[in-house]
Amino acid sequence: MTFDDGPSSSTPAILDLLRNEEIKATFFVNGKTSLAAVSSLKRIASEGHTIGMHSYSHQYRIIYASVENFIEDLYKNYLYIKNSTGTAPNLLRFPGGSINTYNIKNYKLMTAEVLRRGFIYCDWNVSGGDTIKDAKASDIASNVINGVRVSWGPAIVLLHDNGNSELLLALPRIIQTLKADGYYHFSALNNSIQPPMFVYPEY
Ligand code: ZN
Repeated sequence: MTFDDGPSSSTPAILDLLRNEEIKATFFVNGKTSLAAVSSLKRIASEGHTIGMHSYSHQYRIIYASVENFIEDLYKNYLYIKNSTGTAPNLLRFPGGSINTYNIKNYKLMTAEVLRRGFIYCDWNVSGGDTIKDAKASDIASNVINGVRVSWGPAIVLLHDNGNSELLLALPRIIQTLKADGYYHFSALNNSIQPPMFVYPEY
């Protein structure tokens, strides 16, 4: 499971749940500098989850205007994570995915540039749909459970750490149902993954 857009007011509850279920996840975070956010970021790291970059500002129009803008913003995000947790991130998730309507003209340059710098970017192959308006916990749970069950290789599940109480209700159902299936395990991403990518990188 991957959680984008945090840290948020939900982060402590998500972490409690992951700890109780004894599973690890990945958080692709933005640049949030409040004391609560930084303390959540440290807790994510100290509890063994992976932290990846997800842009500092999450402002699509700015970061996707040019490769330079994207890299400049990403570097802020990199420093924010490194300085807050003591560990430099090596994974990233592009806001909106590696190819989206905002970077359609320059996604090839952007994806090539992050790979050239030694980072791994990770899209997803299962979406929880938790940011769809009025999505209920039952919808989110069935999106994830059904998506994982039909996925071939490792399922990379997109969810959001954005204060959505429906997600908090859905998570126990997702975890318990998939554990009960008996052949899934939950793990944090690391730099040895073969991540799903929406586009095949061109060098
Ligand atoms: Zn995002």
